[in-house]
Amino acid sequence: MIAEQKVLDKGFVRLLEVMGDDLSIVQAARVSYGQGAKGDDKDKKLIRYLYTHKHTSPFEMVEFKFHVRCPIFVARQWIRHRTWNYNEYSMRYSDAISDYYVPATWRKQDVKNKQGSTDPLSAEVNEELREKYRRQCDEAFKLYDELIRDGIAREMARFVVPVGTYTEFYGKIDLGNLLKFLMLRDDPHAQWEIQVYARAIKELVQPHVPWTMEIYDELRQNSAQSA
Ligand SMILES: Cc1cc2nc3c(=O)[nH]c(=O)nc-3n(C[C@H](O)[C@H](O)[C@H](O)COP(=O)(O)OP(=O)(O)OC[C@H]3O[C@@H](n4cnc5c(N)ncnc54)[C@H](O)[C@@H]3O)c2cc1C
Repeated sequence: MIAEQKVLDKGFVRLLEVMGDDLSIVQAARVSYGQGAKGDDKDKKLIRYLYTHKHTSPFEMVEFKFHVRCPIFVARQWIRHRTWNYNEYSMRYSDAISDYYVPATWRKQDVKNKQGSTDPLSAEVNEELREKYRRQCDEAFKLYDELIRDGIAREMARFVVPVGTYTEFYGKIDLGNLLKFLMLRDDPHAQWEIQVYARAIKELVQPHVPWTMEIYDELRQNSAQSA
């Protein structure tokens, strides 16, 4: 059965395929002197040593393939990570997915961190803005449908689609580079909407590489405390 995490209001991450586990890292590291696994304690210690000393190539022996459904603005941030292999839904080939993300709460602009956001708005204003936003998105999709009916090419009709619209992609990555992705996106400096995807990925890979993820979490916590 495919493991899945629901994310945001209509998104998900599905773990489609896995190659390797914690022991694949250990075996790859020990191949240099012709030895394999040596028992849980020693193997776990070796993983810690490799990770903390940035000996990253053994972690590249483990690979994951995901199916992701996320808003376009999240996908734009995601695909900046060049070490993933991607294949995305084509709005030239198929009609746009008509689902769009509706945030549960609008957050205020952070005045110190120009890229960030802070507190949520009052419940009343929040609901009013959500309603306005929904109307605006519905209008955009109405125009999209009209353009398609009028025979406009999908590659052009998509100009009117909001960036909150959901897209889907397949993404494949090795564990070494996935940990780099998580360090950046499972982090309070990243936009909350991509943080929740990073956390979903963590949940999905944890059962396959529990020792590595335990060490990752420990270092993540330490780096947050020293930040
Ligand atoms: C909080 C936050 C804010 C951001 N704000 C902006 C912004 O305002 N504007 C903007 O444009 N981007 C922004 N980014 C994106 C950021 O600049 C990176 O493009 C993104 O995080 C991918 O990081 P990366 O290059 O380390 O990842 P990857 O592309 O996955 O690469 C992983 C690692 O592989 C190596 N690598 C990969 N490709 C190459 C290469 N071609 N040459 C050399 N080494 C390579 C590097 O060591 C790299 O760290 C932001 C990212 C974050 C997390």
